[in-house]
Amino acid sequence: MKKEIHPKYFETTITCACGNVIHTRSTAKDIHVEICSACHPFFTGKQKLIDTAGRVERFRKKYEKIQKKKEEEKSSDRSADQ
Ligand SMILES: [Zn+2]
Repeated sequence: MKKEIHPKYFETTITCACGNVIHTRSTAKDIHVEICSACHPFFTGKQKLIDTAGRVERFRKKYEKIQKKKEEEKSSDRSADQ
């Protein structure tokens, strides 16, 4: 190997959001991943909701707000008719 052109190669632990820890070697130290072979539906064969950053919850909240607004508009329309 040529000198000083290769990045450092560390003993690395990859930590998954599911709690799985993989020991390997890499040029990056202490890698954190959201999904790994132990919890990915492709490998587990189970359908699982993958929600790493609260995205589903955020969508639900947004949707609830829209629904509420619609209902409010409906009720105000009705009172205007009377
Ligand atoms: Zn995992």
